[in-house]
Amino acid sequence: MARFATDRLRSADQIERWDAAADVVVAGLGSAGACAAIEAHRAGARVVALEGESEPGGTSATSAGQLYLGGGTGLQKACGFEDTPEAMANYMKLACGPGADEEKIELFAQRSVEHYEWLVDLGVPFKPSFVPTTEATNPPGDDGLTYTGSELVHPWVEHAPPAPRGHNVRCEGSSGHVLMRALLAEVERQGVEVRTGTKVERLAIDGAGRVVGVGASRAGAAEPIWIRAEGGVVLCTGGFGFNREMLARHAPRLLECLPVGTPAEDGLGLRLGLAAGGDALRMSAGCVILGFSKPRSLVRGILVDARGQRFVNEDVYQAVAGDAGLYRADGCVYLILDAKTWAEPVVPYPIAGEGDSPAELERALDLPRGNLAHTLELYNRHAADGEDPIFRKGSEWLVPLDEPPLRALDLRCGTSPYPFFTLGGLRTSPAGQVLTPEGEAVAGLYAAGRAASGLPAQGYNSGMSLSDCTFFGRLAGRSAAGGSRNP
Ligand SMILES: Cc1cc2nc3c(=O)[nH]c(=O)nc-3n(C[C@H](O)[C@H](O)[C@H](O)COP(=O)(O)OP(=O)(O)OC[C@H]3O[C@@H](n4cnc5c(N)ncnc54)[C@H](O)[C@@H]3O)c2cc1C
Repeated sequence: MARFATDRLRSADQIERWDAAADVVVAGLGSAGACAAIEAHRAGARVVALEGESEPGGTSATSAGQLYLGGGTGLQKACGFEDTPEAMANYMKLACGPGADEEKIELFAQRSVEHYEWLVDLGVPFKPSFVPTTEATNPPGDDGLTYTGSELVHPWVEHAPPAPRGHNVRCEGSSGHVLMRALLAEVERQGVEVRTGTKVERLAIDGAGRVVGVGASRAGAAEPIWIRAEGGVVLCTGGFGFNREMLARHAPRLLECLPVGTPAEDGLGLRLGLAAGGDALRMSAGCVILGFSKPRSLVRGILVDARGQRFVNEDVYQAVAGDAGLYRADGCVYLILDAKTWAEPVVPYPIAGEGDSPAELERALDLPRGNLAHTLELYNRHAADGEDPIFRKGSEWLVPLDEPPLRALDLRCGTSPYPFFTLGGLRTSPAGQVLTPEGEAVAGLYAAGRAASGLPAQGYNSGMSLSDCTFFGRLAGRSAAGGSRNP
């Protein structure tokens, strides 16, 4: 009889009674879990999906409902844009940050058109209209296509032909609930057994070390239930942004930021995978948003740090700005504007200081003497020629900041919200198998969505999480149903 160092694992031969059995057990019914359940069922498996909360949907249902898709989707074509899987893969390899999984990116880019059609076939609606904004995670109306990343700006634009790839599920405003409604309707149509209020807390392991089932608690029930999984268990339990202890251990900078999503993202599924021998990747990574660029005209200002120096081209996507603000500028960020670039920000950031000259503003912000003045002199001189030789901000945003009063918006972390969700998670193969530190598959265990480390490594564009969840959720479900190693 196997004994385990952690209470999270239970030897299968210690389990006196199995309450139910299936081929595939899916833990967590957000977008990743729903897609895993659908594809596992379509592959012929008997599927049980367990959801800890009283309703399925997770963070996916509360999201803006934007998916990063491309390579020539029907929506891109309908809006008159050309794109190729190669251009998309090249962009993503840079945009997903250092350590991005190139195999996953290649696979996703090659099959992105098919994935779009899969979603459309399920009834996920996309309006064939383009809105030219790069400022918002969710465009104001119900338009279908938009830019959602840094495709048009330096340095990405030099690496890949830009194309809009943000596919917005049709709805006025946030539309994650529309996406989830379509996915859950299919789960129901197929007759997948869904048990809500059932939180997976343990894994059952057989004598050969294979994951063969789960133990789950139910609200109001004293005893856990045990459900056997003949083919595999798929962990789709979301990230760990709401677990402060895990953040303190793996991503301490994120403790200063504001977790967004649902509190069910407590990292338990991820810890189950670790307990079973799985590895975790990039646990410090997060999508951190510095959403200062609403209205977009605010990009005409400059972002400076505690030294009064710039640290990024201000026209980047807001998660790139968040990353740079938190890590490069150490969370001390001001947006400097003059009278002609001033606009009331949509997010009510406080004004940190004001002055009729750079020297006055420096004093108001308590910045080192002369630094901000020097930054502004250099920036203004080149901006007058429509150039930014230091950070290469796009020329349409370049204007000298020389009309008093000068104002600084307070974008310091702590004063301003830095919303985030975690990107680190279980190491998985493209087929969704949970891998050990040696790169071997943990038999019978799969993961997808934010419980896993997926497409975005340390770089994020809006839409990449839902794409990752839905696409790799499908593959993980299929693998668990067939025991396949090939995606
Ligand atoms: C406001 C907001 C807007 C966003 N907009 C976008 C966007 O437009 N595009 C984009 O790509 N990303 C967006 N994101 C991020 C994206 O929504 C999430 O990263 C993604 O939905 C995660 O999906 P998931 O399936 O991994 O997890 P979830 O959707 O959170 O699903 C996990 C499910 O597992 C359940 N669960 C957890 N633990 C257990 C357990 N132990 N047992 C059983 N069940 C469990 C949870 O209750 C939940 O239902 C947004 C996030 C927020 C907060």
